[in-house]
Amino acid sequence: MTYASYTITLIPGDGIGPEVIAAARRVLDATGLSLSWDVQRAGACVVEEAGTPLPDKVLASVRTNGIALKGPITTTLGSGFRSVNVAIRRALDLYANVRPARTLRGLPRARPDVDLVVVRENTEGLYVGIEHEVVPGEATEAIRIITRKASERVTRYAFEYARQNGRRQVTAVHKANILKITDGLFLQTAREVASDYPDIAFQDRIVDNMCMQLVLQPEMYDVLVLPNLFGDIISDLTAGLVGGLGLAPGANIGTGCAVFEPVHGSAPDIAGQDLANPVAAILTGALMLGHLGERDAAARVEAAVAEVLAAGEVVTPDLKPGRPRARVVGTAEMADAIIAKLS
Ligand code: ATP
Repeated sequence: MTYASYTITLIPGDGIGPEVIAAARRVLDATGLSLSWDVQRAGACVVEEAGTPLPDKVLASVRTNGIALKGPITTTLGSGFRSVNVAIRRALDLYANVRPARTLRGLPRARPDVDLVVVRENTEGLYVGIEHEVVPGEATEAIRIITRKASERVTRYAFEYARQNGRRQVTAVHKANILKITDGLFLQTAREVASDYPDIAFQDRIVDNMCMQLVLQPEMYDVLVLPNLFGDIISDLTAGLVGGLGLAPGANIGTGCAVFEPVHGSAPDIAGQDLANPVAAILTGALMLGHLGERDAAARVEAAVAEVLAAGEVVTPDLKPGRPRARVVGTAEMADAIIAKLS
């Protein structure tokens, strides 16, 4: 029997990134798969040495390997980038940002029965970063770009994802009642794509109503597809529904490559103190294994995480509220507990 081996670009990032990515790497290595890691530094940590937070060799590595596991990156003032995270997504044309939110047992603050996947358009909208002062100090303007091409490929991705993952419903989220031209195009395109998928139910929701619906009855929703900014906001809301940013995995999918990164940012307030919850990064690693076709290993990692959370004997500080008997542990010890449960 031959075993596949994979070379994966590993970008530790800034803030809590190196701690949570190191934890995820250890868990993934413990699955027994043959993984070799091409470590590439990007972010504030590399500016002094490389003169840029995003050296060309980082992007070249992701292009060569086709796959990366990435921590959050802080964008420093004067680095020439509005956001390094956004720059990576655009340079590699990672058009779909996939952020699952599923309730795991044993989390007192999580809503029961949530099983959602947010698919966020990742290349345009307000994130094109075109803004300027019209009248200095008095009036400003930002350009929000919505194209048929980007709307079509992200909605098609959402429907394909639904089909391949046994999901039954796609909801397009928009503000087409006010943004009649831009979100009107997004919604119209989503409706056209939906007609190619008669096996998947389609509906749309205005984004403000969507927020209320997600708080009141999140179990009624399945796959959500949204323009960039709404996807950014709603995916933090859905992360909150299932217990917080410490638990929320994510993937950036393109045609040539995919970059897996947790939803959370660099969290400078808790960086370097062994306080960060590594579960978001570990579940991000499981998503990556699924993408590589290693579904069994992915399921084993998810099961080990679920078992540790359900047992509730050890928790990182963010999961402590409501669990008086749980022992608070650091990032590395949480990863150890998960590795110990890997079947
Ligand atoms: P950035 O500017 O890089 O986006 P941020 O601090 O503004 O960083 P996040 O990193 O997304 O935004 O986090 C918001 C808050 O959530 C943090 O201040 C932190 O307290 C908490 N948080 C985020 N990720 C984690 C984690 N993995 N474990 C524990 N707490 C977390």
